[in-house]
Amino acid sequence: MTKHTALVSETQTMDAMLRARAARVVPGGMWGHLNAARLPEGYPQFFASAEGCRVRDVDGREYVDFMCSWGPVLLGHRHPVVQAAAEAQAASGDCLNGPGEVMVELAEDFVAMVPHADWAMFQKNGGDATTGCVTIARAGTGRRKVLVARGSYHGALPWCSPSVAGVTTEDRAHLLHFEYNDVESLQAAVNEAGKDLAAILVTAFRHDMGRDLELPTREFAHAARAACDAAAAALIIDEVRTGLRLDTRGSWEALGVRPDLCAWSKAIANGYALAAITGNDRFREAATKVFMTGSFWCGAVAMAASRATLRIARVTDVPGHIRAMGMRLREGLALLASQNGIAIRQSGPPQMPLMLFDADPDAAKGRAFCSAALRHGAFFHPQHNMFLSAAHQAADIDEALEAASHGFKAVLDLNSRAGR
Ligand SMILES: *Cc1c(COP(=O)(O)O)cnc(C)c1O
Repeated sequence: MTKHTALVSETQTMDAMLRARAARVVPGGMWGHLNAARLPEGYPQFFASAEGCRVRDVDGREYVDFMCSWGPVLLGHRHPVVQAAAEAQAASGDCLNGPGEVMVELAEDFVAMVPHADWAMFQKNGGDATTGCVTIARAGTGRRKVLVARGSYHGALPWCSPSVAGVTTEDRAHLLHFEYNDVESLQAAVNEAGKDLAAILVTAFRHDMGRDLELPTREFAHAARAACDAAAAALIIDEVRTGLRLDTRGSWEALGVRPDLCAWSKAIANGYALAAITGNDRFREAATKVFMTGSFWCGAVAMAASRATLRIARVTDVPGHIRAMGMRLREGLALLASQNGIAIRQSGPPQMPLMLFDADPDAAKGRAFCSAALRHGAFFHPQHNMFLSAAHQAADIDEALEAASHGFKAVLDLNSRAGR
């Protein structure tokens, strides 16, 4: 869209100025997955505002958003009902000497919504919840070994960080690995843990960066449940990324598998900082014994926002709407790719899609696609699963597909330059 280029002089954008200032006072200019080195060319690092399914960067350029703040935004940015609930709570208090009434109400909401849940506890970040689940499982079983899928992301704490800088082997001493969806390797890890098996920790589906997304097979899900039952260990599902987007009851409910403990965060308060652990009565006593707390864990505003989010997600079939929008995007991308003679692979649930290009080991095509689509008003990601929200409507998807058509042209250009 021409309105984008008109607003921005190529040299001194606000984004570039902020990057230069950040480089002096923030290590590396930015931490973790948001470090500028990881962004496709032309991607902004800094954002100014958002509404519905649109985000605006600090230079005033607007995009149809397919990252939804990397998951937290489920209903759309600044959803009016959630905002009203949060603002009403903020008017009476947020960070008090202890929790408000809203904490009990929210725990009741989770217990009513999630079939496996007999209780709920609240934290701030997904990593608080995954770490809490592991600690509760160890406290409840009196054992140490935790089985995790190789390459799965459970947060950035030392025991689960994808980086090794500053991490000791002792931090991960009692983790054993298996391949997601591979029952044999799961069984081998279970055998290796033997009598010391505390828990199997799995994400709701396989969403490792840069590789095709994989839904769990029914066989794998039931094998994980059976192994935990046989060993009296805990099955922990990490729903931090998937929670409320796929199924409000829990992502494995449709497979007929319920966890003992479940970690939630990201979408549960539509952008407000909140995490939750839900669990069954087998682990209630252990959850009582473990000393878990945080200065901001009682924040009432996020809990009020979460109550509104849960209510809307249940009443309006948010997963169903997002799925339909995701299908429209998927079908549109498939059509554009085939019209341009470009081989792509789309994977994952439509609510959290990923598009990868064939023969693209360094993601050069993916980045070229994203950069060109961005210039035309769509914010995609080349390697990480994307997120749709309830605010996306058919017209937004169609607008993004128009932007995507420029992305495919950029890939054709790249291919012809490379003589492919
Ligand atoms: C984001 C994420 C986490 C960590 O959540 P934070 O809020 O970043 O601590 C854990 N597990 C999964 C599957 C995630 O996607």
